[in-house]
Amino acid sequence: MSFSEKVLVLRTGRFKEHDLWVRFLSPTRGVQTGFAFGGCRSRRRFCGCLDSLNLVLFTIGYSSAKRYLTLQEGTLVSGFQELKNQRDKLGMAVNCLRFVQKICLEGDDSSRIYPLLLEVLEVMDKNPCIPVFFPLLFKARATFIHGYEPVLDRCDGCGCCTEDMKQGFFSIGDGRVFCPGCLRNSSSTLATGKESLLFLDRLRSTGPGEWLLWKPEPEVLHDCFRVMDAYFQYHLN
Ligand SMILES: [Zn+2]
Repeated sequence: MSFSEKVLVLRTGRFKEHDLWVRFLSPTRGVQTGFAFGGCRSRRRFCGCLDSLNLVLFTIGYSSAKRYLTLQEGTLVSGFQELKNQRDKLGMAVNCLRFVQKICLEGDDSSRIYPLLLEVLEVMDKNPCIPVFFPLLFKARATFIHGYEPVLDRCDGCGCCTEDMKQGFFSIGDGRVFCPGCLRNSSSTLATGKESLLFLDRLRSTGPGEWLLWKPEPEVLHDCFRVMDAYFQYHLN
């Protein structure tokens, strides 16, 4: 029994002279690992597609007793070559792939994170200039759609709009925002500028193509890095 799936290769490694393990993001079943026996030398079955950052249509089977996945053959769909040719973009893309491996586990529903990651890679591949904050936005959006969606546009206490606050307080544990009047426990919150909260909130309704056009102030970016870093540390470690 076998099936075919278009997957993104995240990492590969050799484990015997001619064999490879391949970690990949499936569109439906999270991050998976499969084994490509003879993968190092079979040009007929794999034709140069067993590298990270390749989108590959694999025919996938099961080992006896279904203990692991075996990659039977693959066809390269996209190699994101422009992206790979530029060192800074490649670094950003690798950063995004590592994050996906951290947040999305085997068997997780990846039906939202998969198209997001592909879209980010396509935008990076096609556009000559990618802003340095791109990976941050990808990581924030990936976190939000993968089970940790914060509510950033209003105070969790009184319901007033973030737009009307002078200053907000982001609660790291539950991803809620409090206005100064409703703040009860300041030890697990971060004082965060209203523009920064609204900037992150815009990620919910926008995609990577739009992020290219954004020109946030340095203070906003700094704030977002600080808040998201604390949020990742709390939820992903
Ligand atoms: Zn309030």
